[in-house]
Amino acid sequence: CGVFGVIGVADAANFVALGLHALQHRGQEAAGIVSHHPEHGFNSARRFGYVRDNFTNQKVMDTLPGELAIGHVRYSTAGSKGATAIRDVQPFFGEFSMGGAAIAHNGNLTNAAQLRKELIERGSIFQSSSDSECIIHLMARSIQRTVPERMKDALRRVEGAFSVIAMTRTKLIGVRDPLGVRPLVLGRVGEGYALSSETCGLDIIGADFVREVEPGEMVVIEDGEITSSRPFAPATSRFCIFEHVYFSRPDSILGGRSVYETRRQIGVELAREAPVEADLVCPVPDSGTPAAIGYSQESGIPYAMGIIRNQYMGRTFIEPTEQIRNMGVRLKLNVNRGLIKGKRIILVDDSVVRGTTSRKIKDMILDAGAAEVHFRIASPPTAWPCFYGVDTPERSKLLAANMSEEEMRDWIGVDSLRFISLDGLYRAAGEPEGRDPRRPQYCDACFSGEYPVAPSDKLAEGFEM
Ligand code: 5GP
Ligand code: SF4
Ligand code: MG
Repeated sequence: CGVFGVIGVADAANFVALGLHALQHRGQEAAGIVSHHPEHGFNSARRFGYVRDNFTNQKVMDTLPGELAIGHVRYSTAGSKGATAIRDVQPFFGEFSMGGAAIAHNGNLTNAAQLRKELIERGSIFQSSSDSECIIHLMARSIQRTVPERMKDALRRVEGAFSVIAMTRTKLIGVRDPLGVRPLVLGRVGEGYALSSETCGLDIIGADFVREVEPGEMVVIEDGEITSSRPFAPATSRFCIFEHVYFSRPDSILGGRSVYETRRQIGVELAREAPVEADLVCPVPDSGTPAAIGYSQESGIPYAMGIIRNQYMGRTFIEPTEQIRNMGVRLKLNVNRGLIKGKRIILVDDSVVRGTTSRKIKDMILDAGAAEVHFRIASPPTAWPCFYGVDTPERSKLLAANMSEEEMRDWIGVDSLRFISLDGLYRAAGEPEGRDPRRPQYCDACFSGEYPVAPSDKLAEGFEM
């Protein structure tokens, strides 16, 4: 998911709509905005579909007045069962003794099922099926006198990954979990401030990047003043390395590193680790593009657009059902036949999850008359599900959980298949010594199986680490 908020600018909701539009790659199912105006109070709009199709409508935007607003783009993760209902669309709103508050959450809480059960037994009335709603109910039960203090109480009880943006009548609040698994940045816009999942959200509204909200930090912005606090026990940060590989936009800066540059460097590392003789390096667009550029630069093999993407389709993976996803590959990608015929092709993609994409692309490329197909993957084999907010399927559906690399190569049906090593990935992400096995610098659980936060709900369901 993506979260965005602004305070201290006229028509804040318009800024939020733009910010969410820049964060659309983080979730395409639905979007919501809550605003506050001193006379009109809190207002909200929640819609299915793209931001641009809902929040450019003047009638909708007119219902969201005020100088303070937050928003959310939704991408449903493993925890949510079935299709999204509109009641699952954030921000969530709660009315407390000291006034209302709205929250928007990116990440996934790993103990939400237990918390929900306990809260329901004690009388909470849940409105949605979302893990994030626990935060509002925990806030309602807190005895603290202010919303930020109630948030601290609530967030000390939840486990997992969270970057949360919240608002009251007068405050914009941002928090990151102690490990800082998901991103959150702070920007300055005119006389006001903005919080965004990624820096590309700041760019679109012309905000200046100020700094990241740090792992384990809460910032409260009111009347142009920022107050920072540390509600949690100190921990070593474990930012999601997959944000660098795939999830974030390449024009964002994460942890002081350009995502594009990390991806290009992954390609460089891949070319060193897994060279092969070929005629062309082609990305699987768009997610494989920067790594393909790096591979081409390092290997000296020419880069070419062997696969063309239809710009009007979304991210295939994000389509929630398998059937739609299966069609999606063809609806979205097509082979540039004239270029491919008779050539030995290196295809660079960001990841292999179920393997559906790779297999279909291989078929299309061979159909177009390629002489050889070599897959190079910009992440290590995805052998474990993510429980922190990225939608990976259960283990049984992960190709790498069930097959060796050689078996995967066979199943996909290509001449060679190589993945970047974990150390190579860490080097590309700015760790020259690679991964520190005693204190890994990032979360890489989907590759290593080392979960930095025990997925307690899943363990209770019988998941074996
Ligand atoms: P597969 O077809 O192997 O299941 O999925 C791989 C494709 O989906 C890749 O081309 C990649 O761009 C995209 N993808 C890979 N991993 C993820 C993920 O965890 N989340 C999302 N949203 N997309 C992914
Ligand atoms: Fe990111 Fe993978 Fe960790 Fe999930 S498990 S937070 S995708 S690195
Ligand atoms: Mg892709």
